[in-house]
Amino acid sequence: MTDEAQLIQSVPTQLLIGGAWTDSSTGATLAVRDPATGEVLTRIADASPEDGIRALDAAVEAAEAWAATPARKRGEILRRAFDLLQERADDFALLMTLEMGKPLAESRGEVAYGGEFLRWFSEEAPRIAGRYGANPEGTGRMIVSQRPVGPCYLITPWNFPLAMATRKIAPALAAGCTVVVKPAELTPLTTLALAALLIEAGLPEGVVNVITTSSSKEVSSPIIADPRLRKLSFTGSTPVGVQLMKQAADGVLRTSMELGGNAPFVVFEDADLDQAVEGALAAKFRNIGQACTAANRFIVHEDVAPEFARRVTERVAAMRVGRGTEDGIQIGPLIDDRAVAKAVELVEDAVGRGAAVETGGSAIEGTGTFFQPTVVTGVAPGSEILRQEIFGPVLAIATFGEEAEAVRLANDTEYGLVSYVFTRDLARGQRMIDALDTGMMGLNVGVISNAAAPFGGVKQSGNGREGGLEGIHEYLETKYTMTPDPFA
Ligand code: NAD
Repeated sequence: MTDEAQLIQSVPTQLLIGGAWTDSSTGATLAVRDPATGEVLTRIADASPEDGIRALDAAVEAAEAWAATPARKRGEILRRAFDLLQERADDFALLMTLEMGKPLAESRGEVAYGGEFLRWFSEEAPRIAGRYGANPEGTGRMIVSQRPVGPCYLITPWNFPLAMATRKIAPALAAGCTVVVKPAELTPLTTLALAALLIEAGLPEGVVNVITTSSSKEVSSPIIADPRLRKLSFTGSTPVGVQLMKQAADGVLRTSMELGGNAPFVVFEDADLDQAVEGALAAKFRNIGQACTAANRFIVHEDVAPEFARRVTERVAAMRVGRGTEDGIQIGPLIDDRAVAKAVELVEDAVGRGAAVETGGSAIEGTGTFFQPTVVTGVAPGSEILRQEIFGPVLAIATFGEEAEAVRLANDTEYGLVSYVFTRDLARGQRMIDALDTGMMGLNVGVISNAAAPFGGVKQSGNGREGGLEGIHEYLETKYTMTPDPFA
């Protein structure tokens, strides 16, 4: 048996409900495929709506004891999980590459990034603080305390199978909440392996429950409608997030929404072009372009646009495409046929409006869902590629003349997750921090994700923040108590 087959065999394939691995109540299973080959890696339980409610039952039952577990102990379990993840980093990396397609080196990067949430929130758990103060009117004291919000439903996307799970699970557990996790059906194996690791780290039964399903809507709706659920945290596309917010409104459910992006990448004429090119390649091609933080619109000053385009094209044309398990691969497959079709359509639309393909531009025929790493220049205003999330390895360049025009173009989107700005002028950099309507910014840098930072967007990119000092507050309720002066 190959290492890959052995690894796949070691991953649980059932639902995790109340500490027990169980089949779906209907006995149904769903196939998990390798996008590089189209082959079925394994079959896993396909949960029914009844299974979803059973998972919520388990989270509700475990909630009181977990909330009462000392924060230090909750933190220590997370820390043990972090340590175990480091020991198994290679296995987790390979598993992600197999089910999602990203190059192994990037999967290792995600193990490091995803693991940091376990470590960071293991440290935050014992620091949940409150306030104690005097009533400004004179008599009485005011106590402000933080309590776990209660059972949470966590829905994650396929593009970062580990990090999107730990970015929610770790703060929820640190805060004292129990959870039901629903990973994307395309990449459920990493979450199942993570759940097994958390149990090994000492997590009590029912604190983390995992349901995998091909019927996300049918399984999620009853959970969201259940009054015992206290929080919904979702990472995924904006249209699905909007639907879920509507459903959550009926129960006035607290929500955190990490949604789509359409990041501008602005290069001013005074930028360090070496730095801008490195930043561009990282911001665009990480995860095969399938990141919410992916630079979507390159807005480059007309004086430096030809040189910037020449340099990125040279690098992109040399990128190695292939199965992510092979050495030296930089671009793996896209997640599915639809993703390839979308990249094709967006490039065709841009070209139809006058853009030029400098390199790549097409799907790669044959096995797997590959698209050539691509650079298009001269993208005209109104092109779909500037409006939609590309979610593929296509670097699209438009130009600007004046600073105000760059700001207008950068903000000309309903999204507001992240922006990237390259300039050597500190005053201009400061102006951009103030002017760009995004929750995050990379100033002369192309990768911003960090467990110690508050990740999240404005506008239709969502609400709430994950990571940083803010992340745990998504899972805490503030309670204020007034009391007479105890020493009077
Ligand atoms: P998606 O919205 O299709 O799916 C996300 C998750 O929601 C999956 O688990 C899916 O099974 C589930 N889902 C789909 N429809 C549902 C429904 N009606 N009810 C309940 N659950 C449902 O998104 P995706 O294709 O998996 O991920 C890509 C998207 O996620 C992109 O738009 C990307 O920008 C976004 N994303 C955002 C962030 C962020 O932090 N802001 C991070 C990663 C990805």
